[in-house]
Amino acid sequence: MSFPESTKFQLIVVGAGLTGLACAYEAQKEGLSVAVLEARTRPGGALHTLGQPGLQLECGPESIPSTPALERLLRELSVEAIPVQERKAFKRNGQWVAYPQGLRPSDPGSYAGMGPLLGLSARLRLQGEGLVGRGTLEDEPVAEFFTRRLGNAAWEVLAPLVREEWGGDPAQLSLRSAYPALWQAENQHGSLTRARSELSAAPRVTFAQGMGTLIDALGKALEGKVPFGPGQQAAVLQRKGAYWRVYTPQGLLEGESVVLACSAPAAARILRHINPQATALLNQTPHLPYSSVHLAFAQEQLPDDPHDVRLWEEAGRFYRLSRTRARFPERVEAGFEVLRLDVVGEAARLSDTALARLALGQVREQLKLGENARVVRSWVFRQVGALPQPTLGHHRRQGLLESALTRLPGVFFAGGPLEQAVANAEQAARKVSGFLALQKAEG
Ligand SMILES: Cc1cc2nc3c(=O)[nH]c(=O)nc-3n(C[C@H](O)[C@H](O)[C@H](O)COP(=O)(O)OP(=O)(O)OC[C@H]3O[C@@H](n4cnc5c(N)ncnc54)[C@H](O)[C@@H]3O)c2cc1C
Repeated sequence: MSFPESTKFQLIVVGAGLTGLACAYEAQKEGLSVAVLEARTRPGGALHTLGQPGLQLECGPESIPSTPALERLLRELSVEAIPVQERKAFKRNGQWVAYPQGLRPSDPGSYAGMGPLLGLSARLRLQGEGLVGRGTLEDEPVAEFFTRRLGNAAWEVLAPLVREEWGGDPAQLSLRSAYPALWQAENQHGSLTRARSELSAAPRVTFAQGMGTLIDALGKALEGKVPFGPGQQAAVLQRKGAYWRVYTPQGLLEGESVVLACSAPAAARILRHINPQATALLNQTPHLPYSSVHLAFAQEQLPDDPHDVRLWEEAGRFYRLSRTRARFPERVEAGFEVLRLDVVGEAARLSDTALARLALGQVREQLKLGENARVVRSWVFRQVGALPQPTLGHHRRQGLLESALTRLPGVFFAGGPLEQAVANAEQAARKVSGFLALQKAEG
């Protein structure tokens, strides 16, 4: 839609991903006048379900951690969450090994489930986690932390799950930012085992019509209340009197406050003329490209498979292969199965044809498919720079970013990982309310 001429908003939200929509929702609940700008022609950002009769494909994440903030939002929107149960396996020394149900890197209470996958000395090492001394570093790579606390063999089991959650190299990821609760647990209790009753991982959920259900519900809740501009990319931000002007190729919008609910590189571009320091800090969070290739087969051509999701690494590339119908039967027409291969990093930039060829090669090799297995149809979805990577020192950069943004009163950044999207959105809406109240009080 186009925006009402010369209307001034209390809040302009840049980006209509989950964070932006949830932020707009919270702010309008507080009675603020809000507008949302979105560069793409559809809302949802990384969350997008392609729906057509007999087929629903997730173009981005297939599930979301059910945090208290998300649960609150779902209750208000009357959206029902469906727990995701997956039988996962990883490849070790060329063999597929089934994961115990519920094993999650962020849940020390689940680590005992690794026992049967480990030899005696590795099991004893895992059980002795409480005897390992406290870390002394301000931050530590995720890979080093798990190896130090749990031992090499247990880390070998957990590593593919960390790759699945973050996409990037665990040797580069910051423990303090990627798994803040574990970092805190070690600091406070000196051991994950001792802290395990306080730590649990939010279970992952999806929705009846896929992740798009959540985006549709938010869109419906905002309809008629919050003007939404799809296809309107915020290019530049400029201060004009008491207002921020957000320029798009179509024109400009004026608002008392702005929430940048887009990726860090996108926010960096918007701020480049007015705050080079914030721009430099935002540009220091790497974002990995991500592609998913979906291959449809006649069900009868695929072997029975005890694993819904397979994780493995080959030639430095991490892959995730999942079966759609096996987990979500209502999403694929009976008689067919859609296999999805997720590719992260540079390989995700390959052409569609090359990606489809790569996926078929991997599927044939990993599932030992016969030559007669034919792909009925294929789809490639790309999300360039979709996966933010909190690398070592991320928390320091976030702190510096917060202080750099204080030089732009009323401008807030709300990007981050999926798990924190709704909580970040709520927090940004609270900051905006606080800022506007202060402005009013100061006259
Ligand atoms: C396949 C896949 C799997 C993932 N799995 C996980 C996971 O397991 N855990 C996890 O934490 N994260 C995961 N992510 C990343 C996660 O989806 C995102 O971090 C999360 O969705 C962030 O939501 P968001 O609303 O903040 O950003 P986004 O969903 O990226 O939305 C930002 C929106 O801003 C818009 N925008 C950008 N620039 C502008 C501009 N200048 N003007 C207007 N609009 C603009 C974009 O078009 C987009 O719609 C995954 C991503 C993908 C693609």
